[in-house]
Amino acid sequence: MNGLMMQSQLILTGIMNHALNNSPDSEIVSVTQDNPHFRYSYQQAFKRVSQLAHTLKKLGANKGDRIGTLAWNDHRHFELYYATSCSGLVCHTINPRLFPEQITYIVKHAEDRWLFIDPVFMPLVERMAEQLDSVKGIIVLTDKAHMPATNLANVYCYEALIESESIEFSWPELDEECAAALCYTSGTTGDPKGVLYSHRSLMLHTYGVLMPDVFAISRDEAILPVVPMFHVNAWSIPFAAPAVGAKLVLPGPKMGCGETLSSLIQKESVTIAAGVPTVWLSLLKHLRDNQDTLPSLNRVVVGGSACPWSIMAEFEQKHGVYTHHAWGMTEMSPLGTYNARVPKNLPNEAAQALRLKQGRSGFGVEMRIVDPEGNTLAQDGLAFGALQVRGPWVCERYYRSDKSALTTDGWFDTGDVATIDADGYLTITDRTKDVIKSGGEWISSIELENFAMTLGDVAEAAVIGVAHEKWAERPLLIVIPAEGKKIKSSEILAAFKGHFANWWIPDDCVTAKKLPHTATGKVSKKDLREIYADYLWP
Ligand code: ADP
Repeated sequence: MNGLMMQSQLILTGIMNHALNNSPDSEIVSVTQDNPHFRYSYQQAFKRVSQLAHTLKKLGANKGDRIGTLAWNDHRHFELYYATSCSGLVCHTINPRLFPEQITYIVKHAEDRWLFIDPVFMPLVERMAEQLDSVKGIIVLTDKAHMPATNLANVYCYEALIESESIEFSWPELDEECAAALCYTSGTTGDPKGVLYSHRSLMLHTYGVLMPDVFAISRDEAILPVVPMFHVNAWSIPFAAPAVGAKLVLPGPKMGCGETLSSLIQKESVTIAAGVPTVWLSLLKHLRDNQDTLPSLNRVVVGGSACPWSIMAEFEQKHGVYTHHAWGMTEMSPLGTYNARVPKNLPNEAAQALRLKQGRSGFGVEMRIVDPEGNTLAQDGLAFGALQVRGPWVCERYYRSDKSALTTDGWFDTGDVATIDADGYLTITDRTKDVIKSGGEWISSIELENFAMTLGDVAEAAVIGVAHEKWAERPLLIVIPAEGKKIKSSEILAAFKGHFANWWIPDDCVTAKKLPHTATGKVSKKDLREIYADYLWP
């Protein structure tokens, strides 16, 4: 027997309508090259979204067409999110930090019809243009006064296109299974793969991230996504903020700049911000150098790679800001786990150990760890194995693949190795490809890095496995000294003694000026492995 409830479709148009009815005056603040202090209300934003939907229709975009974006976190990108998906198109956000060959591959693979680009990416697009056969034209996200010069044909100005369109649009009644957004994984192994989100998966994910033990944002808050809108929909913040009527602060092209972030947080009374560890390093450095504070900020969400304790400690001790550790991936929209506030009465050491874990799964995500034969392992915090997940916002297959991406019993293998404890706390030990296999035993690079980062003079640390004659692989520690500090390799390695089994201790510690990063701002272990490939080889 079926239930007898309404069949309302879970589509993003619902968020837009809800914001218009309930929070029309809540604000979006945005930094762009043509206006570093742009500000408008949700009501004004969604009127422009209607204008853009008319424009897309006039451009001849048809249901299901992919509309590519090469853009920063700003209000025009926000408008694109809604105008495309709510009119039945697919918002394909592209990471501009990828190599041009990868971007070309992605645009061709997605068969993007139109590209909406920030003016700064015009030279990049010019270089690739000849190969982008599916693209009918380029729309530059700026006004007439700031249009870049170009010899390319079919280039239009965003503001000029939308200005005379109607502010009312009759939004189609979409099926919730209809595709809404597309995002490619950065493809550290093989070609990038497209994850195609549906309206339903994005709506359920939005409910998921808004839960009390997750982002828990409310209407009185201001949220700053420092995670790019081209990376897994900025962890869904552009959907979550209007769903509750929170103020949305978009930092534009200067996302990595500590000074811009600090001034935005102060001016806009930001209460919560979200991003990968490296952006917090630059914000904290700026605060340290300028003896600045962030009185309004009460929490930051850190994910994308393991968050070192030094970031959590500095935020809390110097700025009264609580750091929430989160884990997820493009294939999971991205929320997997979130580390909510730990109980206040927990002794310091236990609290620290708990907070370094990646947290518990959000409601909607199931997790298990399995051994190489696929047997489920115990949730005892000790057994570690391949982490697999399932749920309504987890990818079933990659875009344009006719093969399911799941195991035969319906789970998605994350490519991470982890433990799960009896309370459901997840600890990521490594990515499968980063785990160090020494003499047949596994060593967790993340645990070693976390420890190295607690040592005073270390600003950044990475541990990789390098080829070894006897043990197949041994850990090598690469550190970046804190400003003005010199690091003595022997002292650093000595500090590991007593904290780890002897065979876990890195064979050497090398000092580097900086670590290579991937297009999503993570330390690129692949590059490090190439650089230090022969380091321990005789
Ligand atoms: P990419 O493969 O493009 O880097 P993702 O951003 O989807 O794409 O990366 C997801 C991966 O990032 C996870 O599978 C995991 O290895 C790593 N990751 C994400 N969050 C954390 C975290 N809090 N701690 C450790 N690793 C993390």
